[in-house]
Amino acid sequence: MIVFSLRCAKGHVFDEWFASGAEYEAKAKAGELRCPECGEGDVAKAIMAPRVSSSTEKAAPATPCATCGQEGGCPWAA
Ligand SMILES: [Zn+2]
Repeated sequence: MIVFSLRCAKGHVFDEWFASGAEYEAKAKAGELRCPECGEGDVAKAIMAPRVSSSTEKAAPATPCATCGQEGGCPWAA
């Protein structure tokens, strides 16, 4: 099994498991991939960002911004 990070045309990112990369290609070609969030069928592989999920983002410690010293949510940090 292999997991791919996929992103729909509306920007939702989700993980999907496949038996192999070939299975991903086959499903993508057949249009069988759908965004679980909005049902969008226009789905492509997202840039791999391992271990990034909404739960880990919430658990991430608030690191003061090196530029302005603001803890978390600094508009300049990202
Ligand atoms: Zn979506």
